[in-house]
Amino acid sequence: MKPADRVERVPPSGIRRFFELAEERDDIISLGVGEPDFSAPWSARTAAIDALERGKTSYTANRGRRDLRNAIASHVRRYDLEYDPDGEILVTAGASEALDVAMRALVNPGDSVAIPQPSYISYVPCVTFAGGEPLPVPTSADDEFVLTHEALETAGAGDAEALVLCYPNNPTGATMSREELEVVAEFVRDNDLFVLSDEIYAALTYDGDHTSIATLPGMRERTIVFNGFSKAYAMTGLRLGYALAPEATINAMNRIHQYSMLSAPVTAQYAALEALKSCEDKVVEMRDEYNRRRRFVLSRFDEMGLDCFDASGAFYAFPACGGDDEAFAENLLQEQGVAAVPGSVFGEGGEGHLRVSYATGMADLREAMNRIETFVRER
Ligand code: PLP
Repeated sequence: MKPADRVERVPPSGIRRFFELAEERDDIISLGVGEPDFSAPWSARTAAIDALERGKTSYTANRGRRDLRNAIASHVRRYDLEYDPDGEILVTAGASEALDVAMRALVNPGDSVAIPQPSYISYVPCVTFAGGEPLPVPTSADDEFVLTHEALETAGAGDAEALVLCYPNNPTGATMSREELEVVAEFVRDNDLFVLSDEIYAALTYDGDHTSIATLPGMRERTIVFNGFSKAYAMTGLRLGYALAPEATINAMNRIHQYSMLSAPVTAQYAALEALKSCEDKVVEMRDEYNRRRRFVLSRFDEMGLDCFDASGAFYAFPACGGDDEAFAENLLQEQGVAAVPGSVFGEGGEGHLRVSYATGMADLREAMNRIETFVRER
Protein backbone atom coordinates (compact mmCIF):
# COMPACT_ATOMS: atom_id res chain seq x y z
CA MET A 1 0.00 0.00 0.00
CA LYS A 2 1.24 3.45 -0.84
CA PRO A 3 0.84 6.25 1.73
CA ALA A 4 -1.34 9.17 0.66
CA ASP A 5 0.47 12.09 -1.00
CA ARG A 6 -0.12 14.44 1.93
CA VAL A 7 1.60 11.90 4.20
CA GLU A 8 4.54 11.50 1.83
CA ARG A 9 4.97 15.28 1.80
CA VAL A 10 5.79 15.31 5.52
CA PRO A 11 9.35 14.16 6.33
CA PRO A 12 10.04 12.12 9.49
CA SER A 13 10.71 14.23 12.59
CA GLY A 14 14.25 15.67 12.73
CA ILE A 15 14.14 15.55 16.53
CA ARG A 16 13.55 11.79 16.50
CA ARG A 17 16.59 11.18 14.32
CA PHE A 18 18.65 13.07 16.85
CA PHE A 19 17.31 11.13 19.82
CA GLU A 20 18.07 7.86 18.10
CA LEU A 21 21.70 8.97 17.91
CA ALA A 22 21.63 9.86 21.62
CA GLU A 23 20.13 6.50 22.57
CA GLU A 24 23.19 4.68 21.28
CA ARG A 25 25.16 5.75 24.40
CA ASP A 26 24.38 5.57 28.09
CA ASP A 27 26.57 8.47 29.33
CA ILE A 28 24.45 11.11 27.65
CA ILE A 29 22.88 14.03 29.49
CA SER A 30 19.84 15.00 27.49
CA LEU A 31 18.78 18.62 27.27
CA GLY A 32 16.72 17.57 24.31
CA VAL A 33 13.38 16.57 25.73
CA GLY A 34 10.39 18.86 25.71
CA GLU A 35 8.69 17.50 28.80
CA PRO A 36 8.85 18.10 32.54
CA ASP A 37 11.28 16.02 34.58
CA PHE A 38 8.67 15.97 37.39
CA SER A 39 5.83 13.49 37.81
CA ALA A 40 2.24 14.68 38.02
CA PRO A 41 1.36 15.99 41.51
CA TRP A 42 0.43 13.17 43.87
CA SER A 43 -3.16 14.28 44.47
CA ALA A 44 -3.82 14.21 40.70
CA ARG A 45 -2.36 10.73 40.50
CA THR A 46 -4.47 9.64 43.48
CA ALA A 47 -7.61 10.95 41.78
CA ALA A 48 -6.77 8.83 38.72
CA ILE A 49 -6.17 5.74 40.87
CA ASP A 50 -9.36 6.38 42.80
CA ALA A 51 -11.38 6.73 39.58
CA LEU A 52 -10.02 3.41 38.37
CA GLU A 53 -10.83 1.75 41.69
CA ARG A 54 -14.38 3.03 41.44
CA GLY A 55 -14.63 1.45 38.00
CA LYS A 56 -14.76 4.73 36.08
CA THR A 57 -13.60 3.24 32.81
CA SER A 58 -16.28 4.35 30.34
CA TYR A 59 -16.41 6.95 27.58
CA THR A 60 -17.38 10.40 28.77
CA ALA A 61 -19.43 13.08 26.99
CA ASN A 62 -17.71 13.88 23.68
CA ARG A 63 -16.81 17.36 24.90
CA GLY A 64 -15.41 16.05 28.18
CA ARG A 65 -16.91 15.68 31.65
CA ARG A 66 -19.12 18.56 32.63
CA ASP A 67 -17.36 19.06 36.00
CA LEU A 68 -14.00 19.25 34.24
CA ARG A 69 -15.31 21.79 31.70
CA ASN A 70 -16.67 23.87 34.60
CA ALA A 71 -13.29 23.72 36.32
CA ILE A 72 -11.49 24.70 33.12
CA ALA A 73 -13.86 27.65 32.63
CA SER A 74 -13.03 28.87 36.16
CA HIS A 75 -9.32 28.23 35.75
CA VAL A 76 -8.88 30.25 32.54
CA ARG A 77 -10.47 33.34 34.13
CA ARG A 78 -7.01 34.01 35.57
CA TYR A 79 -6.04 34.98 32.00
CA ASP A 80 -9.25 37.05 31.59
CA LEU A 81 -10.68 34.35 29.33
CA GLU A 82 -14.44 33.78 29.66
CA TYR A 83 -15.79 30.63 28.00
CA ASP A 84 -19.09 28.85 28.47
CA PRO A 85 -18.46 25.28 29.67
CA ASP A 86 -21.55 24.09 27.76
CA GLY A 87 -20.67 25.23 24.27
CA GLU A 88 -17.25 26.85 24.13
CA ILE A 89 -14.85 24.26 25.60
CA LEU A 90 -13.70 20.98 24.07
CA VAL A 91 -11.63 18.53 26.16
CA THR A 92 -9.22 16.57 23.97
CA ALA A 93 -6.47 13.94 24.05
CA GLY A 94 -3.71 16.51 24.63
CA ALA A 95 -3.47 19.94 23.07
CA SER A 96 -2.12 17.98 20.10
CA GLU A 97 -5.50 16.50 19.29
CA ALA A 98 -7.16 19.89 19.68
CA LEU A 99 -4.69 21.44 17.22
CA ASP A 100 -5.16 18.64 14.71
CA VAL A 101 -8.94 18.76 14.94
CA ALA A 102 -8.95 22.56 14.64
CA MET A 103 -6.87 22.45 11.47
CA ARG A 104 -9.09 19.78 9.95
CA ALA A 105 -12.25 21.64 10.99
CA LEU A 106 -11.23 25.04 9.61
CA VAL A 107 -8.67 24.64 6.84
CA ASN A 108 -9.91 24.04 3.29
CA PRO A 109 -7.69 22.40 0.68
CA GLY A 110 -5.08 24.90 -0.46
CA ASP A 111 -5.73 27.37 2.39
CA SER A 112 -2.58 29.07 3.56
CA VAL A 113 -1.72 28.92 7.28
CA ALA A 114 1.00 31.27 8.51
CA ILE A 115 3.40 29.72 11.01
CA PRO A 116 6.00 31.88 12.77
CA GLN A 117 9.27 30.01 12.78
CA PRO A 118 11.25 28.55 14.42
CA SER A 119 8.17 26.64 15.57
CA TYR A 120 6.96 23.62 17.47
CA ILE A 121 7.48 20.70 15.10
CA SER A 122 3.83 19.60 14.79
CA TYR A 123 2.27 22.71 13.22
CA VAL A 124 3.57 22.26 9.68
CA PRO A 125 2.59 18.55 9.47
CA CYS A 126 -0.85 19.29 10.99
CA VAL A 127 -1.54 21.91 8.32
CA THR A 128 -0.33 19.57 5.58
CA PHE A 129 -2.42 16.64 6.84
CA ALA A 130 -5.44 18.96 6.82
CA GLY A 131 -4.78 19.75 3.14
CA GLY A 132 -3.56 23.30 3.82
CA GLU A 133 -0.37 25.06 2.76
CA PRO A 134 2.01 26.02 5.59
CA LEU A 135 3.44 29.53 5.14
CA PRO A 136 6.65 30.02 7.17
CA VAL A 137 7.01 33.42 8.84
CA PRO A 138 10.63 33.61 9.99
CA THR A 139 11.29 35.45 13.26
CA SER A 140 14.77 36.38 14.35
CA ALA A 141 17.10 36.51 17.31
CA ASP A 142 17.43 40.28 16.69
CA ASP A 143 13.77 40.61 17.74
CA GLU A 144 14.20 38.02 20.51
CA PHE A 145 11.95 35.78 18.39
CA VAL A 146 8.92 37.99 18.93
CA LEU A 147 6.53 38.06 15.97
CA THR A 148 6.58 41.53 14.40
CA HIS A 149 4.42 43.35 11.88
CA GLU A 150 7.40 43.45 9.53
CA ALA A 151 7.91 39.66 9.71
CA LEU A 152 4.22 39.12 8.91
CA GLU A 153 4.33 41.60 6.01
CA THR A 154 7.56 40.24 4.55
CA ALA A 155 6.25 36.67 4.56
CA GLY A 156 2.99 37.73 2.89
CA ALA A 157 0.94 36.48 5.84
CA GLY A 158 -1.85 38.92 4.99
CA ASP A 159 -2.93 36.55 2.21
CA ALA A 160 -3.16 33.57 4.57
CA GLU A 161 -6.42 32.33 6.08
CA ALA A 162 -5.00 31.60 9.52
CA LEU A 163 -2.08 32.35 11.81
CA VAL A 164 -0.62 30.01 14.41
CA LEU A 165 0.80 31.60 17.56
CA CYS A 166 2.76 29.91 20.32
CA TYR A 167 3.78 32.14 23.23
CA PRO A 168 5.48 31.25 25.54
CA ASN A 169 7.29 29.59 22.68
CA ASN A 170 8.68 26.18 21.95
CA PRO A 171 11.55 26.10 20.88
CA THR A 172 12.83 29.60 21.73
CA GLY A 173 11.32 30.29 25.18
CA ALA A 174 10.18 33.71 23.86
CA THR A 175 7.09 35.36 25.30
CA MET A 176 5.08 38.27 23.89
CA SER A 177 3.86 41.25 25.88
CA ARG A 178 0.39 42.71 25.52
CA GLU A 179 1.80 45.60 23.46
CA GLU A 180 3.58 43.22 21.09
CA LEU A 181 0.45 41.09 20.74
CA GLU A 182 -1.61 44.21 19.99
CA VAL A 183 0.49 44.77 16.86
CA VAL A 184 -0.17 41.20 15.73
CA ALA A 185 -3.88 41.48 16.58
CA GLU A 186 -4.18 44.60 14.42
CA PHE A 187 -2.58 42.77 11.49
CA VAL A 188 -4.92 39.82 12.04
CA ARG A 189 -8.03 42.00 12.09
CA ASP A 190 -6.92 44.10 9.10
CA ASN A 191 -6.32 40.97 7.03
CA ASP A 192 -9.28 39.01 8.34
CA LEU A 193 -7.28 36.00 9.57
CA PHE A 194 -8.23 33.60 12.30
CA VAL A 195 -5.75 32.63 15.01
CA LEU A 196 -4.78 29.30 16.51
CA SER A 197 -3.12 30.33 19.76
CA ASP A 198 -1.22 27.51 21.45
CA GLU A 199 -0.86 28.67 25.05
CA ILE A 200 0.23 25.38 26.57
CA TYR A 201 3.15 27.08 28.34
CA ALA A 202 1.04 29.96 29.73
CA ALA A 203 1.63 28.90 33.33
CA LEU A 204 5.39 28.89 32.72
CA THR A 205 5.79 32.64 32.27
CA TYR A 206 8.57 34.05 34.44
CA ASP A 207 8.52 37.82 33.94
CA GLY A 208 5.08 39.38 34.31
CA ASP A 209 1.75 37.80 33.45
CA HIS A 210 0.76 35.78 30.42
CA THR A 211 -1.50 37.62 27.97
CA SER A 212 -3.79 35.67 25.65
CA ILE A 213 -4.38 37.28 22.27
CA ALA A 214 -8.03 36.22 22.58
CA THR A 215 -8.49 38.94 25.24
CA LEU A 216 -7.57 41.78 22.87
CA PRO A 217 -10.35 43.80 21.18
CA GLY A 218 -12.09 41.97 18.34
CA MET A 219 -9.99 38.83 18.79
CA ARG A 220 -12.18 36.46 20.80
CA GLU A 221 -14.44 35.70 17.83
CA ARG A 222 -11.50 34.88 15.56
CA THR A 223 -9.27 32.91 17.97
CA ILE A 224 -9.02 29.35 19.23
CA VAL A 225 -6.99 29.06 22.44
CA PHE A 226 -5.24 25.75 23.12
CA ASN A 227 -4.01 24.65 26.50
CA GLY A 228 -3.59 21.46 28.47
CA PHE A 229 -2.15 19.62 31.42
CA SER A 230 1.09 18.25 29.95
CA LYS A 231 3.47 21.06 30.81
CA ALA A 232 2.15 22.97 33.83
CA TYR A 233 0.99 19.82 35.67
CA ALA A 234 3.68 17.44 34.38
CA MET A 235 1.02 15.14 32.88
CA THR A 236 2.37 14.56 29.34
CA GLY A 237 1.60 10.84 29.26
CA LEU A 238 -1.96 11.21 30.52
CA ARG A 239 -2.85 13.00 27.28
CA LEU A 240 -5.24 15.74 28.25
CA GLY A 241 -5.76 19.16 26.73
CA TYR A 242 -8.53 21.52 25.69
CA ALA A 243 -9.60 24.14 23.21
CA LEU A 244 -11.53 27.34 23.93
CA ALA A 245 -13.42 29.03 21.10
CA PRO A 246 -16.79 30.48 20.09
CA GLU A 247 -19.57 27.90 20.00
CA ALA A 248 -19.75 27.44 16.20
CA THR A 249 -16.01 26.68 16.06
CA ILE A 250 -16.15 24.24 18.98
CA ASN A 251 -19.15 22.56 17.31
CA ALA A 252 -17.16 22.12 14.09
CA MET A 253 -14.18 20.72 16.00
CA ASN A 254 -16.43 18.42 18.00
CA ARG A 255 -17.89 17.08 14.74
CA ILE A 256 -14.47 15.58 13.98
CA HIS A 257 -13.52 14.76 17.58
CA GLN A 258 -16.75 12.81 18.19
CA TYR A 259 -16.07 10.50 15.26
CA SER A 260 -12.30 10.16 15.56
CA MET A 261 -11.62 10.23 19.32
CA LEU A 262 -15.12 9.94 20.89
CA SER A 263 -13.84 11.37 24.16
CA ALA A 264 -10.57 12.21 25.87
CA PRO A 265 -9.17 9.53 28.25
CA VAL A 266 -11.48 9.28 31.24
CA THR A 267 -8.82 8.52 33.88
CA ALA A 268 -6.89 11.59 32.80
CA GLN A 269 -10.05 13.69 33.09
CA TYR A 270 -10.35 12.74 36.77
CA ALA A 271 -6.66 13.52 37.31
CA ALA A 272 -7.06 16.87 35.54
CA LEU A 273 -10.10 17.84 37.59
CA GLU A 274 -8.16 17.22 40.79
CA ALA A 275 -5.12 19.03 39.39
CA LEU A 276 -7.25 22.13 38.84
CA LYS A 277 -8.81 21.81 42.30
CA SER A 278 -5.78 21.25 44.47
CA CYS A 279 -2.43 21.45 42.67
CA GLU A 280 -1.86 25.16 42.23
CA ASP A 281 0.90 25.19 44.85
CA LYS A 282 2.69 22.35 43.01
CA VAL A 283 2.49 24.24 39.72
CA VAL A 284 4.05 27.27 41.43
CA GLU A 285 6.78 25.09 42.98
CA MET A 286 7.65 23.57 39.62
CA ARG A 287 7.60 26.96 37.93
CA ASP A 288 9.93 28.41 40.58
CA GLU A 289 12.32 25.52 40.08
CA TYR A 290 12.30 25.99 36.27
CA ASN A 291 12.94 29.67 36.81
CA ARG A 292 15.94 28.93 39.06
CA ARG A 293 17.35 26.66 36.35
CA ARG A 294 16.56 29.20 33.65
CA ARG A 295 18.61 31.87 35.39
CA PHE A 296 21.45 29.41 35.91
CA VAL A 297 21.49 28.30 32.25
CA LEU A 298 21.30 31.87 30.90
CA SER A 299 24.13 33.04 33.14
CA ARG A 300 26.31 30.07 32.13
CA PHE A 301 25.74 30.77 28.42
CA ASP A 302 26.64 34.37 29.06
CA GLU A 303 29.87 33.37 30.85
CA MET A 304 30.96 31.03 28.08
CA GLY A 305 30.23 33.65 25.41
CA LEU A 306 27.25 32.00 23.69
CA ASP A 307 24.72 34.71 22.81
CA CYS A 308 21.38 33.88 24.35
CA PHE A 309 18.47 36.28 24.72
CA ASP A 310 16.65 36.36 28.02
CA ALA A 311 14.02 33.71 27.20
CA SER A 312 11.25 34.26 29.74
CA GLY A 313 8.82 31.39 29.22
CA ALA A 314 8.36 27.62 28.77
CA PHE A 315 11.48 25.61 29.71
CA TYR A 316 13.78 26.31 26.77
CA ALA A 317 16.80 28.47 26.10
CA PHE A 318 17.83 29.08 22.49
CA PRO A 319 21.49 30.13 22.39
CA ALA A 320 23.27 31.05 19.17
CA CYS A 321 25.92 28.45 18.44
CA GLY A 322 27.08 30.05 15.20
CA GLY A 323 27.20 28.52 11.74
CA ASP A 324 26.17 24.92 11.30
CA ASP A 325 23.90 24.04 14.22
CA GLU A 326 23.49 20.41 13.10
CA ALA A 327 27.25 19.88 13.17
CA PHE A 328 27.51 21.71 16.50
CA ALA A 329 24.83 19.51 18.07
CA GLU A 330 26.25 16.32 16.59
CA ASN A 331 29.81 17.08 17.73
CA LEU A 332 28.60 18.16 21.18
CA LEU A 333 26.86 14.82 21.45
CA GLN A 334 29.82 12.77 20.19
CA GLU A 335 32.55 14.62 22.09
CA GLN A 336 30.86 15.63 25.33
CA GLY A 337 27.79 13.41 25.56
CA VAL A 338 25.30 16.30 25.77
CA ALA A 339 22.17 16.11 23.64
CA ALA A 340 20.56 19.38 22.56
CA VAL A 341 18.42 19.89 19.48
CA PRO A 342 19.75 21.84 16.46
CA GLY A 343 17.64 24.95 15.91
CA SER A 344 17.21 24.34 12.18
CA VAL A 345 14.95 21.36 13.00
CA PHE A 346 12.35 23.98 13.99
CA GLY A 347 12.34 25.78 10.65
CA GLU A 348 13.47 29.08 9.21
CA GLY A 349 15.12 31.40 11.73
CA GLY A 350 16.27 28.48 13.87
CA GLU A 351 19.55 27.99 11.99
CA GLY A 352 22.69 28.70 14.01
CA HIS A 353 20.92 28.02 17.31
CA LEU A 354 20.44 25.16 19.74
CA ARG A 355 17.33 24.31 21.71
CA VAL A 356 18.33 23.57 25.27
CA SER A 357 15.63 22.28 27.57
CA TYR A 358 16.11 22.97 31.28
CA ALA A 359 13.41 20.49 32.29
CA THR A 360 16.31 18.49 33.70
CA GLY A 361 17.47 18.15 37.33
CA MET A 362 19.96 20.75 38.59
CA ALA A 363 22.85 18.27 39.06
CA ASP A 364 22.63 17.08 35.45
CA LEU A 365 22.14 20.62 34.25
CA ARG A 366 25.33 21.78 36.02
CA GLU A 367 27.32 18.92 34.54
CA ALA A 368 25.85 19.52 31.07
CA MET A 369 26.72 23.22 31.19
CA ASN A 370 30.30 22.37 32.27
CA ARG A 371 30.58 20.01 29.33
CA ILE A 372 29.17 22.58 26.89
CA GLU A 373 31.67 25.11 28.20
CA THR A 374 34.56 22.66 27.64
CA PHE A 375 33.25 21.96 24.14
CA VAL A 376 32.96 25.67 23.31
CA ARG A 377 36.42 26.48 24.69
CA GLU A 378 38.04 23.63 22.76
CA ARG A 379 36.52 24.61 19.44
N1 PLP B 1 2.17 22.59 21.88
C1 PLP B 1 3.46 22.84 22.14
C2 PLP B 1 4.01 24.19 21.85
C3 PLP B 1 4.30 21.83 22.68
O1 PLP B 1 5.57 22.12 22.95
C4 PLP B 1 3.75 20.56 22.91
C5 PLP B 1 4.60 19.46 23.41
O2 PLP B 1 5.81 19.50 23.37
C6 PLP B 1 2.40 20.35 22.63
C7 PLP B 1 1.64 21.37 22.12
C8 PLP B 1 1.75 19.01 22.86
O3 PLP B 1 0.94 19.10 23.99
P1 PLP B 1 0.06 17.87 24.48
O4 PLP B 1 0.93 16.97 25.29
O5 PLP B 1 -1.00 18.53 25.33
O6 PLP B 1 -0.50 17.20 23.30
